[in-house]
Formats: sequence, structure tokens, C-alpha cells
Amino acid sequence: MIPQFPDLSTMLIDGHRTPGSGAERIPVLDPATGKELTSIAQATEADVADAVAAAARAHRDGRWRGLPPVRRRDVLNRLADLIAEHAEELAVLDTLDNGKPIERARGDVTLGLEAVRHYSGTPLRLAGQVHPAGPGRHVYSVREPVGVAALVLPWNFPFMIAAWKTSAALAAGCTVVIKPAEQTPLSALRLGELCLEAGVPDGVVNVVTGDGRTGAALVAHPDVAKVSFTGSTEVGRSVMAACAPGVKNVTLELGGKSPTLVFADADLEAAVPAAVRGVFGHSGQMCTAGSRILVQRSVREEFLDRMATAVRALRIGSGMEGGINIGPLVSQEQYDRVLGYLDIARDEGGEAVIGGGAVPRPGWFVEPTVFTGLAPTARIAREEVFGPVACVFDFDTEDEAVELANDSSFGLAAGVWTRDLSRAHRLAGSLAAGIVWVNTYNEFHPALAFGGVKQSGLGRDLGDAAVEGFTELKSVVMALGESR
Ligand code: NAD
Repeated sequence: MIPQFPDLSTMLIDGHRTPGSGAERIPVLDPATGKELTSIAQATEADVADAVAAAARAHRDGRWRGLPPVRRRDVLNRLADLIAEHAEELAVLDTLDNGKPIERARGDVTLGLEAVRHYSGTPLRLAGQVHPAGPGRHVYSVREPVGVAALVLPWNFPFMIAAWKTSAALAAGCTVVIKPAEQTPLSALRLGELCLEAGVPDGVVNVVTGDGRTGAALVAHPDVAKVSFTGSTEVGRSVMAACAPGVKNVTLELGGKSPTLVFADADLEAAVPAAVRGVFGHSGQMCTAGSRILVQRSVREEFLDRMATAVRALRIGSGMEGGINIGPLVSQEQYDRVLGYLDIARDEGGEAVIGGGAVPRPGWFVEPTVFTGLAPTARIAREEVFGPVACVFDFDTEDEAVELANDSSFGLAAGVWTRDLSRAHRLAGSLAAGIVWVNTYNEFHPALAFGGVKQSGLGRDLGDAAVEGFTELKSVVMALGESR
């Protein structure tokens, strides 16, 4: 058990901590050492059913959605205050089970907190519309909470995504069952406790733990009305299929293979460090990782030289050390997978001009690696590696750059580096991505929707779009006066 924090080995169902009804436990490991931090319950189908039943009861009796909007605002504000109060603890929990540098974990907590604060105002603003209609008619539409929402989370941003989805769902008036990733459950369990402390009524926020079996039981449960899933495209497809029989409302935030386009007129002083952070931050375990770097041929050599210098300066180490840039990968499985991709890239003709192997130390560390010499059809250029691995390609013209960038089954994010304003606008329009960053990368705002096109997903986190995804739009047509 983690000594300095509350016991996070139990689930949260109907306002109570419970070890669950099964005997199976999953060890939670520290990726920097491979040592066990604690263990969590593998929730049984009965545990999942209990959690959904608690959320369904809380939805039916209106203990949350029925509160005056100002009261719900106050509770969400109090939750934001508690997150701020416990920010360091939450960041340490994410670094412990995910391995990310503590400074990045602090940044994630801030991004989660900003969403909660932003959505605290939503209950007062979530308005419908009155529609023009003929005489004797009053026609309007209202947004109603969809019901019980299942929030299925990935391991790469454990707290941030838990906070984004939970606050949007609560702002819409839903009740939720959260299923954190089995590798990184700690901060979501703590978030559940903070919700209770903030005054969220019992049963409105439930947290069940376990692996994909728990996730599958949750999304298939007939009383779950909405599934908001963040994870791999492969699992996302099966989640979508599991939602089909109940025709459930589903949001999918999936994988990516995002391009970073660097034009010859770019400010390389700014573009290189941003491209390095954009692909190697979080050890490349980011859905938005700018893992395809497309550089205009005339600046290719200069770009690669600068990149090599920037990468050599990166510090690799345990996330808790402080001041490091590259932490371990999250698990043995991920480590094996990333090393496997390095072999595949070499077999496909790639040359690792920077890095190219494991870091010889305990834990699951891989060197930041840059490949050149690959065809755009190479597997490493098309599949999500989810590790510190970039491929660099060249282009001559803007059209060629756009074609290369859009030649992907994914469409999550894109980065553009140019000083030409007209080109920046043209590219913002022509790149197939849910978000385009120009002369910056990986910036998030709570009011700005985030999500992908093509196989990067469906629906959005953040912004009004996320809240709307937790609602149904009801139309009302009312005859006034004598009914005829
Ligand atoms: P994953 O798909 O393996 O798992 C995600 C979650 O789904 C986990 O909680 C897991 O236990 C659960 N799960 C597994 N099988 C399931 C099933 N059959 N039914 C229901 N739930 C199931 O993803 P991961 O490895 O945890 O996360 C990495 C992936 O997440 C990457 O592909 C990354 O790009 C993606 N991601 C996307 C975004 C985004 O916003 N687009 C953000 C972060 C991560």
C-alpha cells in the first residue's frame, strides 16, 4: 500500500468504499522500478451491476440533476477547490503509477482542474431554445442529462481525462461510473473521494476498477445510457460495437499518428524544441504525439542537426526525481511493443539517426528515437507506436506536404510551423485533423473542444460539445388556449 496517501485499493460504489465481491486482485506497479505500489480489485460483473444500479437510482430520484443549478455550480466549484488543495498529492499519484515526470503530472492536474472550474458555470448556462412557431403554439427545446454515463479511461493521462469527463458529465446532470485503466487507477479513485467531500451526493460518482473485462461489462450494461471512452482505436471499435445493441450514445477519443509540418520559413529556434516535446513528451505516450515530422527539404539537415542537439540534452530518469524529460514507459507490455516497433522500422529500411534502443537501467525506459529513410507506407509511419519514436520525412511543395500529412487513417491533431500567414490559414483548412496547432503544439483550453476525425474518434471532450454529448435534446410543442 502507498504509505503517505489514503488507502486507494478499494472501489467506490454508492458512496462507500468496497473491496468488491471477487477474490482477484491486479497489482499496480511503479514503471520506474517495476515494484508493486498497491493492488486493486478486478471488479466482477456483480460489482459493475451494483455501481450501475447505484448511478441509475441516483439518476432516477434526481438527487443531482434535481438540485438547483446554483447548488450544482457550488459543488463543482468546491470540487475544483479540493483538487487545487490536493494538487501535489494527485500529481504524485499519477507519477507513481504512470511514471511521467512530476512536472508534467502537475501540468495534467492543472488542466483537469481548469476543466472542473470551467464546467462549474455550465449548470447555469445549459439552456434550451424557444423556436418561432405559429399563433397559439409555444415551441421549445431543452437539454436533459442522458442518464448513467460510463467513463472508460486510458493510462496515459489518468487524472486529467478523469477530471475532464467527470466534470462535463456532472455539469450536464448525469450520474457516472468511472473505469480507470488498470495500470493507473490511483488518481481516479482519489477523484471519486474528492467528489464526495465536495458534496456530490452518494451514488452520483462511482469508481470501479479492473481490466478490459470490467470495461466490457460496464459498456454493455443495459442501464448505461452513454459511454465516453478514451483509449486505443482497436478497443474503441469493440466499445462502439458493444454500444450498438442498446443504440447507446458514444464518444470515442482514440489514437493518432499526428503530423508536424515544418516549412523552410519556420522559426526553427521555436519549432525544434516544440517538435521534440510534441513527440517525446510523456515518453511519446500521447494520443497527440507529433510522431510524423515532415520537413521541407531545404531545411532538413539543419532541422535534424538541431533536433539531435535538443534530444541529447534530454534527461532520462524516474518521474519522481524532478527535472527529467523522459520517464519510463508505463508497463512491460508497452516496453516490449515499442522495442518491437524499433526492429520493424529497421527491417523496413529505417535508419535510427538518434537513439534506437532500450536504456540500460531497471524499469521500462526506451531512448528517444528518430528514424529517417522510411517510406510513408512503412508500418511505423502508419501505426500508433505510443512510445518515444519519431519518423522524419521530406517534402518540397505545400501540396506534397498536405498529401503526406493526410495520408493516414488517423486524424487527431496536426502542427504547422511557418511564418507565412496565408499558408497557415490554408493548411488549417486542408489538414484532416480535429485540432490544428500553428507555431505551437499541444495547447488545450477547457472551452475548446478536443477530439479527432477519421479513426481518431467520434464526439469531443472539453468545450460545450462534451457537455452536449452527455445530454439529449428534447423538443416540446405546446398548443396554447383551447385544444383543437
Ligand atoms: P486501451 O484501449 O488499451 O484501454 C483503454 C481503457 O479501455 C482501459 O481502461 C481498459 O481497461 C479498457 N478496456 C480494454 N478493453 C476493453 C473492452 N473490450 N471494453 C471496454 N473497455 C475496455 O488504451 P490505453 O492503452 O489505456 O491508452 C492508450 C490509447 O489511448 C492510445 O491509443 C491513445 O492514443 C489513446 N488516447 C486517446 C486520447 C484522445 O483524446 N484521443 C487521449 C489519450 C489516449
